[in-house]
Amino acid sequence: MAHEDCIFCKIIDGEIPSAKVYEDEAVYAFLDISQVTKGHTLVIPKTHTKNIYETPPEVAGKLFERIPKIADAIKSTYQPIGMNLLNNNEKPADQSVFHLHIHLIPRYGENDGFS
Ligand code: 5GP
Ligand code: ZN
Repeated sequence: MAHEDCIFCKIIDGEIPSAKVYEDEAVYAFLDISQVTKGHTLVIPKTHTKNIYETPPEVAGKLFERIPKIADAIKSTYQPIGMNLLNNNEKPADQSVFHLHIHLIPRYGENDGFS
C-alpha cells in the first residue's frame, strides 16, 4: 500500500521518474539521484515501511533475498572492486527518506569519493 507523501512510494508507482536497476513483485531497485560513487543504488521493498524497526520479517526477508543478485548485476555493469551495503535508521543516523532502503555503494579504490 503506497504511503501518502512518500517519495519512494511515488517512485515505485512511477509518479516520480527513476533509473530502474531491478524490479519484481516485492522489490524495486534504482540509482540514487545523488551518486556517492558510480552505480550507487537503492533497494526498497514495494510495501511501505518506515525503517528497519517497523519492517515485518517477511518484508525484510524478501528484500535481503534479492540483494545478492542485484549486487552482482551492479558488479557486472560497473566493475567495482568492492561494495558497501548501508542502511540508515532515524534522523540521527542520517535517514532522510522514511521508506526503508538499502544503499548498495560500489567501491573503486582509495580515491573513489566515499569513506
Ligand atoms: P538516506 O539518507 O535516507 O539513507 O538516503 C536517502 C537517499 O535517497 C539519498 O542518498 C538521496 O540521494 C536519495 N534520494 C532522495 N530523493 C530521491 C529521488 O527523488 N530519486 C532518487 N533516485 N534518489 C533520491
Ligand atoms: Zn513509501
